[in-house]
Order: sequence, then C-alpha cells, then structure tokens
Amino acid sequence: MLTDSRSLCFPEETLFFALKTQRNDGHRYIQDLYNRGVRQFVVEQVPEAYETLYPQANFLRVPHTLAALQRLAERHRDEFSLPIVGITGSNGKTMVKEWLYQLLLPSQRIVRSPRSYNSQIGVPLSVWLLNEQTEVGIFEAGISQPGEMMALRDIIQPTIGVLTSLGAAHQENFRSMEEKCMEKLELMHDTEAMVYCSDNDIVSRCIRRMNYKGEKISWSTCDQQAAFYVKSVENSHITYIWKEEENCFDIPFIDEASIEDCITCAAVALRLGLTPGDLADRMPKLEPVAMRLEVKEGQRGCILINDSYNSDINSLDIALDFMNRREELKKRTLILSDMFQSGLSPEKLYAQVSELAVKRGITKFIGIGAQLTAQADKIQIADKQFFADVNHFLGSDAFTGLRNEMILLKGARPFGFDQITEQLEQKVHETILEVNLNAVVENLNYYRSFMKPETKMVCMIKADAYGAGAVEIAKTLQDHRVDYLAVAVADEGVTLRKAGITANIMIMNPEMTAFKTMFDYDLEPEVYSFRLLDALIKAARKEGITGWPVHIKLDTGMHRLGFDPEQDMDELIDRLTHQQAVIPRSVFSHFVGSDSDDFDNFSTLQFKRFEMGSQKLQAAFSHKILRHIDNSAGIEHFPDRQLDMCRLGLGLYGIDSRDNRILHTVSTLKTTILQMHQVPKSETVGYSRKGKLTRDSVIAAIPIGYADGLNRRLGNRHCYCLVNGQKAEYVGNICMDVALIDVTDIPCQEGDQVEIFGEHLPVTVLSDVLETIPYEVLTGISNRVKRVYFQD
Ligand SMILES: *Cc1c(COP(=O)(O)O)cnc(C)c1O
Repeated sequence: MLTDSRSLCFPEETLFFALKTQRNDGHRYIQDLYNRGVRQFVVEQVPEAYETLYPQANFLRVPHTLAALQRLAERHRDEFSLPIVGITGSNGKTMVKEWLYQLLLPSQRIVRSPRSYNSQIGVPLSVWLLNEQTEVGIFEAGISQPGEMMALRDIIQPTIGVLTSLGAAHQENFRSMEEKCMEKLELMHDTEAMVYCSDNDIVSRCIRRMNYKGEKISWSTCDQQAAFYVKSVENSHITYIWKEEENCFDIPFIDEASIEDCITCAAVALRLGLTPGDLADRMPKLEPVAMRLEVKEGQRGCILINDSYNSDINSLDIALDFMNRREELKKRTLILSDMFQSGLSPEKLYAQVSELAVKRGITKFIGIGAQLTAQADKIQIADKQFFADVNHFLGSDAFTGLRNEMILLKGARPFGFDQITEQLEQKVHETILEVNLNAVVENLNYYRSFMKPETKMVCMIKADAYGAGAVEIAKTLQDHRVDYLAVAVADEGVTLRKAGITANIMIMNPEMTAFKTMFDYDLEPEVYSFRLLDALIKAARKEGITGWPVHIKLDTGMHRLGFDPEQDMDELIDRLTHQQAVIPRSVFSHFVGSDSDDFDNFSTLQFKRFEMGSQKLQAAFSHKILRHIDNSAGIEHFPDRQLDMCRLGLGLYGIDSRDNRILHTVSTLKTTILQMHQVPKSETVGYSRKGKLTRDSVIAAIPIGYADGLNRRLGNRHCYCLVNGQKAEYVGNICMDVALIDVTDIPCQEGDQVEIFGEHLPVTVLSDVLETIPYEVLTGISNRVKRVYFQD
C-alpha cells in the first residue's frame, strides 16, 4: 500500500492510492510511478488515454481514494480478533505506545504504529501491518478537527482505549477543551475497557457525559476508589494499589510528563495481563523514546543520519526511505545492529532487511552483533562487514575507512551506537541552532490552508532561509513541491543548485555582475528598473539566450524597488515586446503593511495600483504572466488577494507577523553551561564591572556572545535564557564569545543545556526586548553557529 510516490520500494507489489489532499494530488504521480514499474492504482479519475499511455496498468476508480484506503484497512482489521489498544490524547501518545511496546515485548508479538503514524492516512497504513503472528496491536489515533475520530475508530476498532493527557494542541479547531475531549473519547465507544486519568476534571466530566458501558480503568493520585490508585510518587519510585493489592515499581525518568505516561502504561499493561512482578521488573528498563531522525555533518566528508528510534523493520524502512530521498551523490552505507523483532526468524528477518536495503540504494553494509554476524550470508550486498560489537568496529579499518559516505546509523540501544556517532561527528562549537524540518512543513501547510489548491507558492529562503540554513530548508520545500524558491542574491542560488536543488529559483536582488552566473545555473532574476532590464537583455544576447524568464516588480507604495505602475508601464511593455532575450514569467508587488489592520486602506490602494499595472502588462502578451502580491501576513489577512501565486516568508519559520504568535517552532538556539562560579555579593561580573549583584550568586558562563548573534543589548538583565526550564537572566555585558547568566536559584551543573530561544522561549521575547522584529534576531545568528537539522 503506497500513498507517497517518493517512498516507492517494491513496484511490482505496490497498490498506489492517488490521494487528494489540501496541498497535493496523488494523480499527478501516476506517470512517474508507472515508469518505475507500478501497475496497480486506486484513483478518483482514470487518466486520459490510459490504454495507450499505461497499457499494463489496472485502475480501480472509487469516489474517494482516502475513504477506500480506510475501508480496506478496516476490512483487514476485521480479520483479527486480538486485543487492540487504541491511544489518543493531546500529548504522550507516542510515548505511551512505545513504552507499552517495551513492556509487552518480552512476552508478546506486537504490531504498533511506526513512529507517530496517527493521522487519517497514517492509521490505515499502521493497521495494515497486522499479520497472522500478531498477538497485540497498539495504535495511535491523532485528530486535529471535529469529526475525524469516528473514521479512525472504525479502522482501529480498539478493544482497550487509552486517553493520555489533554492539552492545548489543535485547540484552534475546537470551540472548547470539552468539545475536543468528547471528540477524542469517540475512540472509546465500543471498547471493553478504557484507561484515563480521573484527576482531570474535564476528562471526568466528559466521561460521565458519554455514558460509557465498558470497564472504566481510571488512575488517580487522590481518589482511593480509582481502579489504579497511585498512593505515592517519590522521585521515580511509584507505589500503587491495583485490585486491592499494594505494589510498587521504579522508573528511569523524573519529569512529570514521563511519570504520567508511565502510570498510564502500567494500568494498561496490568489490564493486558502483566503481573505486578512483571511491572517491577520491566519498568526500570524502559528506554527514552527518540523520535528524531538527525542529520549531522560527519568527519571526512560523511553525512550521518542517526536514528535511535526502536530498532525494528518498520522503522528501518522509514529511515532508509528518509535517506533515499536525499539528493547528495554519496555512497550509501547502512550500519545496523541486531534487531529485536517479534514474530520472525532471524533468517527471514535479515533476508527482509537485505531486500529493503538493496531497494533503497544501500551499497555498503556494516552489521554489528552476534545475530547479524551469524546471518551474514543473508545480506545480499557485496560490500559488507560484520563485527561482534561497537568496540570491535571502532578499532577496525572499516571505521577509519569511512569517507564521503552518507551513513545511516540504526542501532538498538544496548549496542551503544552513540559511541560511533560521537567519534564520527564533526566536533563543533557547543552552540547550535536546531532546526525542525517537520515544523517547516507544518507551517507551510498552515498557510496553504488559506490558499486555493491551484494557487502557486513561492517560499522565501533569502538570508540563508531567515537564518535556518537555505540548503536543508530548500530540500524539504522541494520535497513538498513548492513552485518557486526565492533567494536574495545569485550566489545563494548557486549554493542551492550545487546542493542538488532542481526547483525553480527566483533571485530577488540580482547583481549586474552576476547575469552570466544566473544563466549558467538556471536562476530567474527579478527585474525592477530599466537600467537592470537593459543590462540583462544585453548580457542574454551576448550568450545567445532567448526567452529567459524574469519577474517584474512593480512599486505600489513601498518606494524601494520597482517600476511605477502609473508612469512606466507603456515604456516597459514597449521594451519587453521589442526583444526576445527575456520574457516576463511573473509580475508582482509587495505590501508595506499587511501585518497590521492600521494599513488596510493603504493595502487596498496598493492592490488597486497593482491590478492596474499588472493587467496592462498581461494585456500586451499572449502567454499567462503569473501575478502575485501576498506575503505571509497577506496570505492570512487578504486570502482574496492571493491571485496566481503567494510569497511565504516569516510564516514558514513559524512566526505569524500579524500578532507575533508562534505557529510551529522551527529554530531553537541552544548552548551549554561551560563553567559555574560562586560569586559573593560584594563582587561584580564581566567587563566594566557592569554586572552588579544584590546577593551572593551563582553565575554560569555560556559559549555564546554577540559574535554569534546574541545581541549585546540583551545583557545587564534586559533578557533571559532558559536553564532546565527556568529563567536565567544575562548578568553584566554580553562578551564577544561568552555570556554570563544568573543561575542562583536554578538547580543545574556544568554541561547542562541552555535555550537562548526556541521551543520554550519564543524568539519574539528577544525581539520585543530589542524593540525590533523577529526577522532581525533570526537572520542575525552568525555562520559559525552550527545548524543541526532534525525530522520527527
Ligand atoms: C521577504 C519578502 C517576502 C516575504 O515576507 P514575509 O513577511 O517574511 O512573509 C515577500 N516578498 C518579498 C518581495 C520579499 O522580499
């Protein structure tokens, strides 16, 4: 079953569902998939002339492909009568699913959702994994809108429902928390039992309202009547009463969220037949769940893709797919440990691993562990080596010989693959900017939701993608089929091309000296003046170029760059129509104040001027000239002005410039504590004795200064960073490479992480203190700060 053409692996066995989503249409990929060998398609429209174009294909036409996919999964589910756990809630779904899996794994064969496949598409794909060997299924159900849960319930048909904690996620689509809770509880309707925390008033109220017929397994820290009464939590030691018997277990976590999730897991596990003894034995062995696929620069030209998510064949497949989508022309190497898989013999398991790896372009295989070594002949890759453990590998030529390779590291936790990563990683400045590529996509989709499906999208990745790093952002956007990428200068475009970006690229500030570069690298310049136009035409003629696409900028009120729509149009048209070197591909203008209602009247005036000028230009040509004016704020505020195309900038990076709200956090600037000092009240801190103290203090030094982009005006307690979640003010003047922070009341030690801005501290807090806009803070992070990318 395939819904994303980029993930194709076994064409002969694939049934492709051409899904239509808000942002894309799977029907577009039929030709590509057919050429790659796919023959079975489920579609809403059969392609024209299919008998001649696709003679060997079968098309099954259905009114709605997503519904068909869901019905098929539902039927598949009907084949099994097993305990199936359905998990929903705002936070902790994946954690509960994974820990439950870890708890049950020693005794049962389990199928579970890979990663967080919990959507309308992810759930059917997950349920499809159920097979004859399965003894328990564990699936997540995530919703973002009213009415979605029913479809998921019909597919999962859980016998045990689990509600994890309730939070603010997706609240924008619901009138109240209660409405959202009721929607989530839809999952529980026909279950035999339901696990939830009754300490939450909203949850308790909703459950009373729904008139639930099954067994209510509530857990509580205060209600002694609860099915699972948590008598005490002392650090990570939990004492509970279940079926009138008091027992306890330890967990290897101390934060509140993990404790709650562990308790939920314990209640579900007991209901599924584990004994308190099993729990006491297995709970302390729970492992943290790493959802991230990290991409890091390695030594000797290597790129490391690190996936420490549980090691099983489904997650291996996803990681291989992720690697396969990357453009770099490098040898592809898989370093894999023994896998813990329920249900398959080692022979079958490693034969499957080999088949997947070959299909996904792996040309070098390094296996670590006794089991893999014993199955070495199952790996059908010529360049293969096997080692008993990580230490043997690190001491071998195979390790020192890694060069210019893209390396996927996938090791089960006991094998300690972090040692490999640590040795291979390029040692970097301890300050990093962490960039969440999923968040970029979520922000893109947020803005796409205001746009008609046919409206094109330009993504602004100028200024190194607002500081986030243009190459990786461009790759992600190209994957999501945006129509244009826009950068400021030609060199930025060249960097993208060299990194394998093939999307259309627009240059917003083309330099007169760089026309040749633009022709060589297929970059399309903006044209804003007659002088620029003439020079460009001249350069194109010299190269014998005709029909080079350009983008005409009109000045409708910014008075920065652009042709005057009232004065210049006749002459512009005259010059454009009397040459063949360039052709206008698009015409656009830029709002001066779409982010504020105060300028609505002026925006209207700008739009009028633009309409007049752009229509005049279009009238002079027979081909369609794309018209665009909306930027991020405009897309949201003036969706009726989206015209043919919109230009998304700041919004992509997670900030709504209309109200400074954070959408999905993309960039997190992080560092670590280098050293701590006890400083008596009588002393001062930093240059010029600026850091005066009002009490004996603990001061921490962090390796980030104004040369990294930490603005000096944040110092002297004007702003703060976060240490272990608590606010630590900057004391004294911020230095060039180091800043000092007050951690007197914060439990912390050297080596602890510090967040400068990001996930928990919005960048807008800093820009507000600096009386500037978030754009300036983001683009000010200097190049020496390493960018690290990840994807959930
Ligand atoms: C930077 C830029 C944008 C994007 O603006 P945001 O406010 O970041 O969305 C759009 N158009 C032009 C011409 C730009 O220079």
